[in-house]
Amino acid sequence: MPARFCVLASGSSGNCAFLQVNGFGLLIDIGLGPRFVASRLATIGASWRDVHAAVLTHTHSDHWKDATLAHLKQMRLPLYCSPRHHEDLKKYGGRFTALLQEGLVRSFEANIPFDLPAGIQITPISVPHDAEPTFAFRLNGPPGLFGPQWSLGYASDLGEAREDLLTAFQGVSVLALEFNHCEHLERMSLRPKFLIDRVLGPLGHLSNDQASQAVQSIVQASDRGALRHLVQLHLSQDCNRPTLAAQHGKDVLAELGSSAKVITAQQFATSDVIPLEGDFARSRPIAVQPSA
Ligand SMILES: [Zn+2]
Ligand SMILES: [Zn+2]
Repeated sequence: MPARFCVLASGSSGNCAFLQVNGFGLLIDIGLGPRFVASRLATIGASWRDVHAAVLTHTHSDHWKDATLAHLKQMRLPLYCSPRHHEDLKKYGGRFTALLQEGLVRSFEANIPFDLPAGIQITPISVPHDAEPTFAFRLNGPPGLFGPQWSLGYASDLGEAREDLLTAFQGVSVLALEFNHCEHLERMSLRPKFLIDRVLGPLGHLSNDQASQAVQSIVQASDRGALRHLVQLHLSQDCNRPTLAAQHGKDVLAELGSSAKVITAQQFATSDVIPLEGDFARSRPIAVQPSA
């Protein structure tokens, strides 16, 4: 299979997604220990041998594990992160320094696209969250006739979906977006007030309603039929329900006349696998070349 994407785990107990393009494997976040990564990869017929790099959204502890940094070093796999992540990664564990010393840490900056093997181009986008800096990513596949063959928007922890993110995600064929909580369940929860305020605040997490609004903005600004899959990320165990989030996603897509499929990522199991081959290119009409 030339290109595929799935979520190995999503939620406050650990986040990790897997993108594989022409044999090149990328982990987005490494919030699972190496053995858990291996067992989730095994469910889709892959292993650590299929992983060639990792990219980090932010330094909250559900997005990276020190043991997995050690595993990256052992396997000589590069980690792409912001230079402004270094301090936290050094502070909470010893393995990052060793990865740095081995020359396995690569840097990225907001809004500056960088290339990975297999024709993948990644653009980091800053998002508001209480781990500064936090990034969403737009990942474009190899070039096709009318642009990238497919494109993936990935935003897992953010308090608000701001205009620059909505613009950056226009035209994506796969949108992986946080549907963290139901605002009502969050407010009615027995959590301490400061935690509720944090989640609902502009540096917290997206509610089902906020995420649905973001989906609406992105789909309305995109070519008809561009979006093929909506992947719901980082659902709260206490303050959301998979069926509730899925219904929000399906409702907003139905209102928009979109036939995109909804996949709700889970904490304790690998998601469905999304094939990415030619998704985007096939949604466009074939252009007829004028004769000379
Ligand atoms: Zn998180
Ligand atoms: Zn976070």
